[in-house]
Amino acid sequence: MDARDRVVEALAVEGERIAAAGSEAELRPWLAAGARVVDLGGHALLPGFIDAHGHFPGAGIYALVADLNSPPIGRVARISDLLGTLAAQASDTAEGEWVLGMGYDDTLLAERRHPTRRDLDAVSSRHPVAAWHVSGHLAALNSLGLARLGIVAGTPDPPGGRIRREPGSGEPDGVLEESAMEPLQALLEPSPLAAWRIVRRASSLYLAAGVTTAQNGYATPVQMRGLAWLARLRLLPLRLVLWPGEEAAGALLDGSLRLASPDARRLRLGAVKLVADGSIQGYTGYLSRPYHVPPGGDPGYRGYPRMPRDELRARVGRFHAAGFQVAVHGNGDAAIDDILDAFEAAQREHPRPDARHVVVHAQMARDDQLDRMLALGVIPSFFSLHTWYWGDRHRAIFMGPERAARMSPARSALARGLRFTIHCDSPVVPMEPLRLVWAAVNRRSSGGALVGADQRIPVMAALRAVTRDAAWQHFEEREKGSLEVGKLADLVILDRNPLDDPTGIDRIRVLETQVGGRVAWRAPDREAGP
Ligand SMILES: [Zn+2]
Repeated sequence: MDARDRVVEALAVEGERIAAAGSEAELRPWLAAGARVVDLGGHALLPGFIDAHGHFPGAGIYALVADLNSPPIGRVARISDLLGTLAAQASDTAEGEWVLGMGYDDTLLAERRHPTRRDLDAVSSRHPVAAWHVSGHLAALNSLGLARLGIVAGTPDPPGGRIRREPGSGEPDGVLEESAMEPLQALLEPSPLAAWRIVRRASSLYLAAGVTTAQNGYATPVQMRGLAWLARLRLLPLRLVLWPGEEAAGALLDGSLRLASPDARRLRLGAVKLVADGSIQGYTGYLSRPYHVPPGGDPGYRGYPRMPRDELRARVGRFHAAGFQVAVHGNGDAAIDDILDAFEAAQREHPRPDARHVVVHAQMARDDQLDRMLALGVIPSFFSLHTWYWGDRHRAIFMGPERAARMSPARSALARGLRFTIHCDSPVVPMEPLRLVWAAVNRRSSGGALVGADQRIPVMAALRAVTRDAAWQHFEEREKGSLEVGKLADLVILDRNPLDDPTGIDRIRVLETQVGGRVAWRAPDREAGP
């Protein structure tokens, strides 16, 4: 994965870094010097995968909350399954304590709707219950849960959010959108012991998938303190880049918070993360043209921004002026317009070369917006697994076939020479970089449809987007992302070379993952090397 995409036969590691790379003959002097030899036996060695955007350690949350995912990820096929899973969780939870579940997807449930307060009241009347939508942008609560949050018929919708109501009465129906569900976030701040269990689970999932650098794409002050504490205790077995969310970023600016990292190679601060809209499959992505099948019978419905355009501009400008890299979540093209306007204004007022601001997801980025990104030095980070997990529904429901065909437009970016990254947004979907690469290369939906043949990219480009370009996005291109002399020996051994069979990349197995030249994970059936 060097600048020329060279493939070498042999690699030497000394301490935590790569000391040599080349042909077997070129590395022969290392043998004479007594190097231990690991024969890969024809397997493939790649730089460890780098998460461009996700929410570590969110993938470990199922150590604590009910798993409400539908197939192909989980087992919840209908609302009765969801209620049964939550009821089992309730039976293990003390009365009065919250019962939490995550990952349900209304468009994959047989009923094609969200669970309501009345559904969830059947789980328990003695526990407050909250079920997070797979997007993380909506949640459904039972009556006791709503009461705990103080939400009643007369509660107005908060700015940037919505309390869905029952028709007629104005009573909340249980579903909270966007900022209306923010009070729930506090419930996800676990005790130190629970936090460690979550981190341990997430770390092993990531390492087993070949990920050596994880990313937290919206860290709260509590998470920042907690993860720094675990890093100091050497309980983080992989590297982590933290993106402070707005509260944490504000606290960093006013000096009330600092990231006490013991070692910037293990834990470091990245971009400030802001959010401009929601998710298209949650009908909260902000589009310039209406949704294909609009919700609630409003044919002009285009979703909505998380905040007014001027406010986004002020917030981006503040963090840009303070020297931060800024990453803004934007799925709909109307949101992306607002984000690019904000980046452009920030650069006009405080010119900063090489700021590497990021549009996170950039799902419906238009060609003119990719041109603007190139001109502004902005990086789109695509959630390319959308074609696999939601491709059929984007075609049939949300976007229609024409717009769905050019979502996550990686090929258009590549054709312009616009550097991009791709990500899993874990725990939104499982951390599987090889399935992610496969999705960007093949663009097949789980129903078997080809979603936008023109936007498929070559394997090498997809691999770069999870290695060297992801390192570059994190300002770590000197340390990571390729197998070059002087870089950290973050390595993954795969059973097959991804270049050999582009359609089978999702079936490649990870055999071993090394962080800084030390084995951090090894497949159970793989023998220890010499
Ligand atoms: Zn995210």
